[in-house]
Amino acid sequence: METQDLNHNVQQHSKSSFWLKNVRLETGFERDDNDQVIHTTTDVFDLEIVDGIIKQLKNHPTTISKDAKVIDAKGLLLLPPMKDMHVHIDKTFYGGNWRAAPWEGGIKDMIKLEEKLIPELLPSSQERAEKCIQLLQSYGSTFARCHCNIDPVSGLKSLEHLQRALENFKEEFSWEIVAFPQHGILHSDSENLLREAAQMNVDFIGGLDPTVVDGDMTKSLDIMFDIALEYDKGVDIHLHEDLSTGKAVMEYMLERVKDNKRLQGNTFISHAYALSQMDEKSLEDMSNQFAEYGIGIVSRIPMGKQLLPIPTLQKHGVIIKAGTDNIMDNFSPFGSGDMLEKAKLCAQLYGWTNEYHLNRALQFATDNVMPLDNAGKQVWPREGSPASFTLVNASCSAEAVARLPRRESVYYNGRQIFSQ
Ligand SMILES: [Zn+2]
Repeated sequence: METQDLNHNVQQHSKSSFWLKNVRLETGFERDDNDQVIHTTTDVFDLEIVDGIIKQLKNHPTTISKDAKVIDAKGLLLLPPMKDMHVHIDKTFYGGNWRAAPWEGGIKDMIKLEEKLIPELLPSSQERAEKCIQLLQSYGSTFARCHCNIDPVSGLKSLEHLQRALENFKEEFSWEIVAFPQHGILHSDSENLLREAAQMNVDFIGGLDPTVVDGDMTKSLDIMFDIALEYDKGVDIHLHEDLSTGKAVMEYMLERVKDNKRLQGNTFISHAYALSQMDEKSLEDMSNQFAEYGIGIVSRIPMGKQLLPIPTLQKHGVIIKAGTDNIMDNFSPFGSGDMLEKAKLCAQLYGWTNEYHLNRALQFATDNVMPLDNAGKQVWPREGSPASFTLVNASCSAEAVARLPRRESVYYNGRQIFSQ
């Protein structure tokens, strides 16, 4: 038996079979006399990985054949792969020199600025996107929902460059693309461009502040939904509008989604600032309808001074996703690319300090995939699951969320894509 350390280059094993032994997995919750979770139990397992799939999941130690290739995880904790569900890597400064955001202006100022900035960034945008993908991978992310500028300045070039960058990583990363009219569908007359983008292998049609930027809420939203329906895409809109106009946008979106089953479960509102300003009754009502008609909320957590009412949304079963948003660009210089950090930020913002709440906060790093379900039953991974995961030096998910251990090793479909 040939046993290797994790930091050994194992890429050659991606299409063959090997054992990853000595892996720590969560097995349940331990509760005190008051039924409060006080500890997460774990056990050590051996995983047989064949053609990118976990074929066998056995309690350690397993009898492994002498000829098998074996990698020793040395008791590290196995976490699900991280997923960045909202990120802009098509127009980033990352990969070049340090640059702060130019100023703290409004959205229309930013559109004017981008008219100059985008042509400056385009020649190196593919290379920068590739560096961002590597950054995300180094923190355990194997998936990103990439919003991509579709605007009259870059035309479809931003999208072409982003797609070339992603294609170069197709063996070790997966993605969705949102065609995002950053300069407004009506404000920059981008409807035709958006239609062209819809035919270029994207997954979602985006939108932007239909009242504040576009000045005609129903017209802007109708174009977005109509293109999505015509080309069979989902919807993921950037909505930064406050309560005074944002609530009406959400209500109109609900009307369109109620009327069309194909949009249900496939419509997302990114940021949704207005939710943080709603009175409790309206929020409960809106949350109920979002859950019923499958409208999800995506947040970069935190969003300035405003706090998305995650506990209320969760109580009603609304789908919530999290993302880095900006790694280092004209909107923000703060994104680390670490989704586990987003889970920790969530825990800090909402006061989730106990074992149970920290354990559940992992969902914001992994797009809701967790080793244990709410009751503490082991549900991930299973035999037959893709061999995509992150190994960290932590005793359980709660510790990983609270302490942000470095990512020792990251696997995507059986292929090691990062190691320390
Ligand atoms: Zn965004």
